[in-house]
Amino acid sequence: MPYTQELKELIKRVEATRPARVEMARRNEHYPALSMEEREKVLEKYHPDYQKEGRRVVRVGPNKGDLFQEEVADLLESRSMLRPQRVDLSQVHYETDVLIIGGGGAATSAALMASEKGAKVIMATKLRHGDSNTVMAEGGIQAATQECDSPFYHYLDTVGGGHFTNDPKLVAALAHDAPLSIAWLEELGMMFNKLPDGRLFVTHSLIFKALASTILASCCRKWVCKNKIFRIFKRK
Ligand SMILES: Cc1cc2nc3c(=O)[nH]c(=O)nc-3n(C[C@H](O)[C@H](O)[C@H](O)COP(=O)(O)OP(=O)(O)OC[C@H]3O[C@@H](n4cnc5c(N)ncnc54)[C@H](O)[C@@H]3O)c2cc1C
Repeated sequence: MPYTQELKELIKRVEATRPARVEMARRNEHYPALSMEEREKVLEKYHPDYQKEGRRVVRVGPNKGDLFQEEVADLLESRSMLRPQRVDLSQVHYETDVLIIGGGGAATSAALMASEKGAKVIMATKLRHGDSNTVMAEGGIQAATQECDSPFYHYLDTVGGGHFTNDPKLVAALAHDAPLSIAWLEELGMMFNKLPDGRLFVTHSLIFKALASTILASCCRKWVCKNKIFRIFKRK
């Protein structure tokens, strides 16, 4: 779809003001982040998930009573594509110890770990193995891998970022396992950006800071010592 005229005008404005912003960034000056109220207003005005129109309540099934976009509600109410009368459960085609549904990072990790322990594993995924959000990830990972960092701070930041609604046990597992997962990924051959001395390259991300208390809260990692947020980068 070509850019609309309105979008073209906006692109011109962004281009015209870019040199001034680059100069600001060089002076280490940044525009102040929006307050929570200001963010809420912008989201309510522009984000499709915040629009009241075009949604309806699902009438049947496990999602009964939930509000979704019309199209999603239609899908959730539709009949299953499976025809039980055509499935003969007395005929076993495949046998396995562990059946994993999906083929993204979580599924693949589960499959690798189960098979390392000697279990027979079958993965069933709707597309090709790897067709998933995991391969789309921008590359930043939050984990306490630095000298002055610790899973303790990771835990506190995540709980705070999640406005104290996270499940504490899950956050504790996430914060504790994160450095171990990074080491495990490295063992498997994942290449992370590194400093010349071999330490992981980490950076302060303004975007993550801005989002820390909103959408990506539970993924965000803040290093309290210097008010920096660490992101470890996958090498592209
Ligand atoms: C553009 C983008 C950028 C991102 N950047 C970052 C980042 O920088 N840092 C970060 O931490 N996170 C990031 N994320 C989020 C991160 O990618 C996901 O949270 C994470 O990959 C989820 O992993 P997963 O294995 O749980 O799910 P997925 O990777 O989504 O895997 C789900 C799997 O299940 C399969 N599946 C779905 N439905 C069915 C079904 N009915 N039957 C069978 N199989 C099914 C899918 O095909 C897929 O293989 C990003 C996400 C996107 C989209």
